[in-house]
Amino acid sequence: MSYDDVEIEDMQWNEELQAYTYPCPCGDLFQITKEELKLGEEIARCPSCSLYITVIYNAEDFAENNSKNNLQPQNRQPVTVA
Ligand SMILES: [Zn+2]
Repeated sequence: MSYDDVEIEDMQWNEELQAYTYPCPCGDLFQITKEELKLGEEIARCPSCSLYITVIYNAEDFAENNSKNNLQPQNRQPVTVA
């Protein structure tokens, strides 16, 4: 079972680790990289203990095909904001 469910907005980007982090009760940090998020991974693990958290995020925000080719205006689609 995962220790907690954490929204990606509540995690912190760590430049040094190149990963999103969240404090682990053991004193270390849960970590998940952008590459893992792109692959649909939703488990952030702590390297120092056996705990992990489930990361809540919108997979489309990290999808490869969203970040590339955005110089092509014809590929843009209207965005509906709820
Ligand atoms: Zn830990």
